[in-house]
Amino acid sequence: MKKKNHIRILALLFLLAIVLVAITYFSDAQTKNTNKTKNTKANQMFEINKTETEWEKELSPEQFRILREKGTERAFSGKYNIHFEDGFYSCAGCGNKLFDSKTKFHSHCGWPSFYDVDSSKIKTIEDNSFGMKRTEVVCAKCGGHLGHVFDDGPKPTGLRYCINSVSISFKKDTTKD
Ligand code: FE
Repeated sequence: MKKKNHIRILALLFLLAIVLVAITYFSDAQTKNTNKTKNTKANQMFEINKTETEWEKELSPEQFRILREKGTERAFSGKYNIHFEDGFYSCAGCGNKLFDSKTKFHSHCGWPSFYDVDSSKIKTIEDNSFGMKRTEVVCAKCGGHLGHVFDDGPKPTGLRYCINSVSISFKKDTTKD
């Protein structure tokens, strides 16, 4: 009699274990599916619609971290922080022409700063991360993270587009040579 009870308990425990494994498996699959949908939805907002895996293959690890994962380069470390040649800065992810060197100014904040941009080239998104209220700036074509915009810039706009050097690529205006 005692032995029979033991077998029953063991069988029950075994069943319970199977149920638990099944629940874990299906909820994980569900989460992955939701993430995939989210990813697709986010990408659909932009003309250039690539998966994060595709971006990872195309970009350098640092570019991927900043452009796709909304990272930030270390202050005063970027190659365009102190860079004042005539030309254009394009998105390092997709080549979208973004900032004119005419609007670049020395902000002393540690990142390349511009006081103006063609508003059709970028999109701004409310960013409440790290307990701060900021406005994120992304490329309008590929959604790549560029930096943030603040309202402490010089005239005439009063804006400071604080941009990661890693997110942009400079092309010299050769007509001025
Ligand atoms: Fe882009």
